[in-house]
Amino acid sequence: MSAIILPGATVGVLGSGQLGRMLALAARRMGYRVHTFSPERATPTGQVADREITAAYDDLDAARTFATDVDIVTLEFENIPAATVEAIAAIVPVRPSGAALHTTQHRIREKTFLRGAGFPVTPFYPVATQDDLRAGLAAFGYPAILKTADFGYDGKGQTKIGTPEDADAAFAPFAGHAAILEAFVAFEREVSVVAARGLDGSFAHFGVVENTHANHILDTTVAPAALPPETARDAIEITHGILDALGVVGVACVEFFLTHTGALLVNEIAPRPHNSGHFTVDACTTSQFEQQLRAVCGLPLGTTQQWLPAAMANLLGDLWQGGEPDWAAACAFPSVKLHLYGKASPRPGRKMGHLTALASSTDEALRSVRAARDALTRR
Ligand code: AMP
Repeated sequence: MSAIILPGATVGVLGSGQLGRMLALAARRMGYRVHTFSPERATPTGQVADREITAAYDDLDAARTFATDVDIVTLEFENIPAATVEAIAAIVPVRPSGAALHTTQHRIREKTFLRGAGFPVTPFYPVATQDDLRAGLAAFGYPAILKTADFGYDGKGQTKIGTPEDADAAFAPFAGHAAILEAFVAFEREVSVVAARGLDGSFAHFGVVENTHANHILDTTVAPAALPPETARDAIEITHGILDALGVVGVACVEFFLTHTGALLVNEIAPRPHNSGHFTVDACTTSQFEQQLRAVCGLPLGTTQQWLPAAMANLLGDLWQGGEPDWAAACAFPSVKLHLYGKASPRPGRKMGHLTALASSTDEALRSVRAARDALTRR
């Protein structure tokens, strides 16, 4: 089989959410077919894919059938069981590889890898028992954050421990699960770098962006982040080093805390496109999704040139509490782009869509997306 997977071929996507949907849109535009595999039906990805396969992630027979019908498999969701990735990889290439997934889908493995490879990382302590927790708290002091080691995202499965008295109650839900204690980082800002690594080891990044979170969920991104040039250079260099060390083929995002002393600490790596890269769909020559497609298909990476400063605001299910949001009111902002993911039930905290604006400054772009989002629920 040729190393390059050309238009007309079929891309298999593990996972079926909005990241897969935007990948599928990019892939179909470029003449690829798309099959998606997940336990759900009528999914954001399935709605725009050629085929939606519905089976449990650990259904190896279904995974093998899925693999047989596609030319390459990539993912939009990293918590895929290793056995499934292995079964698929025996039939078609999986990019990024099972090894990169194995490292990044478990916070202790991920942080141990980062520290071992010399990347700056949030201080952490593996916690299996209450004694481990006590030892970690003695080392870090208060507050500290206890997180599940695996299958945690968007702040799910994490709790802040403010005082010694909180420790026992905080540990209870984690008993019997691998957990990780992290020192609380009183960061000045959160920034991230979305980047791609091609099959030939080539590297392309979308610059450093600044993120704000609400209830541990990404709320807004502005691109580019206003940073001293040397800090931006460091963040990109660290990202490049991490993608090389992991051997990622595809797109990945490195999330950082920027401390008050100007130090960068890696919080987390996502081995796939990321919410903080959604602005690239409207603001860059090549989006993060087209870049993922190019990388995993062995094509040359596209230019990441950004046309104008940009901002992105997430639309969570909470916006539906008073009824259907007023989409026309958001569209009354002529420079704001509306993205909706086709999800049927708007649960609070669920990512339903996002808004992007381009403007002459990131401040102005941020004002636009915020005003358009406010207009959705102003009745
Ligand atoms: P995570 O799921 O680890 O990405 O955490 C989600 C969000 O929680 C982060 O983006 C931060 O806003 C916050 N957070 C997580 N870990 C820490 C930490 N060690 N110190 C301070 N804030 C944190």
